[in-house]
Amino acid sequence: MGAQAQLIRYSQVHPVMIVILLGPPGVGKGTQAQMAADKKGWLHLSTGDMLRAQVDADTELGDKAQLYMNRGDLVPDEIMVAMVAEEIQKLRSDQVLLLDGFPRTAAQAEALGERAPGGAIRIALYFSAPKSVLTARLLGRGRKDDSKEVIEHRLDVYDETTQPLVSYYRDQGLLREVDADRTIEAIQTDVLQQVGGALASA
Ligand code: AMP
Repeated sequence: MGAQAQLIRYSQVHPVMIVILLGPPGVGKGTQAQMAADKKGWLHLSTGDMLRAQVDADTELGDKAQLYMNRGDLVPDEIMVAMVAEEIQKLRSDQVLLLDGFPRTAAQAEALGERAPGGAIRIALYFSAPKSVLTARLLGRGRKDDSKEVIEHRLDVYDETTQPLVSYYRDQGLLREVDADRTIEAIQTDVLQQVGGALASA
């Protein structure tokens, strides 16, 4: 039996649940995901963190990815899809996976749909905040790829390439919105409520 068939058979017995966190850079998805994961025992997978770990470990993949990341461009889909597919295959039964920073392109969304066992994607939470808030947060964060020019470019790439996924998931009936221009605590309450609801309605 191929890996894909094995994955499908396994998942029919032990469903995994995937929560997609959508929204622009600086909207606070990572902070919210980590808080929720710590509280609920969910798995938080940040593709940005995974790539930064590869860069720090000086791997071949890290070297390649760094070129794109420094410019604020997206790392090629093949690399990202392979990375996430590997993590999905490792999921234990009944695990809840918070996907933070993936998918970011239509091709990634489609690849995820093909690799996620049927019905595994429970909800796509769309975080939004005014652009001025995003820019201020990103500038305050001081990450290597957070210079003013790179930030501008990342926001443009988001608008062009990732924002269309909002309607993609809305069309599938999976989209829920979160107003991310509030206190961290208020947003977290909303996130836990919405995700909790989506997980309960099996
Ligand atoms: P983040 O920490 O999510 O802001 O990601 C930092 C950088 O990693 C992005 O600007 C991209 O260069 C790269 N990256 C992270 N996730 C993805 C993805 N799903 N597809 C392509 N590039 C990504």
